[in-house]
Amino acid sequence: EAEWAAVDGGAEQGDGDAGAVPQPVLAVVGRPNVGKSTLVNRILGRREAVVQDTPGVTRDRVAYDALWSGRKFTVVDTGGWEPDAAGLQASVAQQAEMAMRTADTIMVVVDASVGATATDEAVAKVLRRSKQPVLLVANKVDDDRLMADVASLWSLGLGQPYPVSGLHGRGSGDLLDAILAALPETPRDDFVERIGGPRRVALIGKPNVGKSSLLNRLSGEQRAVVDSVAGTTVDPVDSLVELDDEVWRFVDTAGLRKRVNFASGTEYYASLRTKAAIDAAEVAIVLLDASEPIAEQDLRVVTMVVEAGKALVLAMNKWDLVDEGRRYQLEKELERGLVRVPWAQRINVSAATGRSVRKLAPALRTALTSWDSRIPTGTLNSWLSDLIAATPPPVRGGKQPKVLFATQAQTRPPTIVLFTSGFLEAGYRRFIERKLREQFGFVGTPIQISVRVRE
Ligand code: GDP
Ligand code: GDP
Repeated sequence: EAEWAAVDGGAEQGDGDAGAVPQPVLAVVGRPNVGKSTLVNRILGRREAVVQDTPGVTRDRVAYDALWSGRKFTVVDTGGWEPDAAGLQASVAQQAEMAMRTADTIMVVVDASVGATATDEAVAKVLRRSKQPVLLVANKVDDDRLMADVASLWSLGLGQPYPVSGLHGRGSGDLLDAILAALPETPRDDFVERIGGPRRVALIGKPNVGKSSLLNRLSGEQRAVVDSVAGTTVDPVDSLVELDDEVWRFVDTAGLRKRVNFASGTEYYASLRTKAAIDAAEVAIVLLDASEPIAEQDLRVVTMVVEAGKALVLAMNKWDLVDEGRRYQLEKELERGLVRVPWAQRINVSAATGRSVRKLAPALRTALTSWDSRIPTGTLNSWLSDLIAATPPPVRGGKQPKVLFATQAQTRPPTIVLFTSGFLEAGYRRFIERKLREQFGFVGTPIQISVRVRE
């Protein structure tokens, strides 16, 4: 017991500013009943363990602030939301995947008195791919008799097993030292997995909106770059264009440059090409013809970008043809048609005159920055708990659903997972999205919010 010094279990005591300084995150994974919660309580210094013999026992929170040897970090106990309908093995493996995407260090707990089970093997298989450090903890080593079983856990391929007893405190000092050594000082910010090279842009829109004209306008000013970098040995499908001191890769532009008439094909064919360009790109410029009524086909292209989860910039072309009357009409059409993308920037351009084409590069950059961005777990949770305290989710069937924990599981696009104790209505999810955007921006990118209900 003496080995476990008292630490500050801040979150339990209602410490509201968990997000003030970004803290590194330790995720605790493993199958039910191996002692994850017992260990988390130990790490937090809570003497009275909130542990019961029932697996998946109800817990109110799953993320806690810990303080150890002057270092602050967040502990995420994935024991709080298991197992689900996917089956034990799949859901524990999913937790491990989630931990790899969100945590700075992962602690996987195995019950040494049982040995490695098939589920443990499945989790280990996932975690062997982890770029973050993984600590293998052999729990329930209450005395020396189990040390031989501990050694057999090397077979999981996760390195040295740390023998501990969550119940009695044995081995805890070594484990905590290992945790601190593994945790970085500041949270990871490597979520942006840039492949490198120019950022990839799709220039799309229905026929005749001015895609070729705009591409010519953009590259016309920088012919040298296109010729020298794209090269002549292979026929490039993409165009490299320098805008605002940066080279961009406009994907799948061969058709645009050659003036191949795809219109002779079906609209279906055109939409396949659009889809391919979106898939190849990180951000799309959807070009609309501002001089013509907004058509169903325009909105379909916008929807394709959103559904593909790519960043978006709207360019209203042929602005040289827009007069006061048309402008008024257009506003109304956009208000009605673009309700789904109030977050997208709109730039009024003219490929013919060159008007405002210079504004495209900054807009692309803003959209990509949002698309790449990540809210630290602590910041997200402290913001969310304030929001929910002020405006709780509506009661359903006499029950008040609770949001237990949130994490941004992915970037590109930002994807937020809410762990809840009940169903959240679509209206409330939209409310959360709106507030998220008010607080964190996300201009130019779709965001995805998914809800995982703990039974
Ligand atoms: P979780 O489902 O992984 O979070 O596991 P719990 O922390 O809820 O623990 C499951 C059961 O194992 C409880 O009955 C704990 O008291 C027990 N347990 C946890 N750690 C130890 C340990 O080190 N030794 C022994 N003998 N039992 C433990
Ligand atoms: P695409 O089918 O989307 O590649 O469209 P094109 O670039 O071929 O343009 C279709 C027609 O619109 C051509 O006749 C262009 O000259 C004309 N156009 C393109 N951009 C503008 C613009 O900004 N203003 C005006 N007035 N006409 C334009």
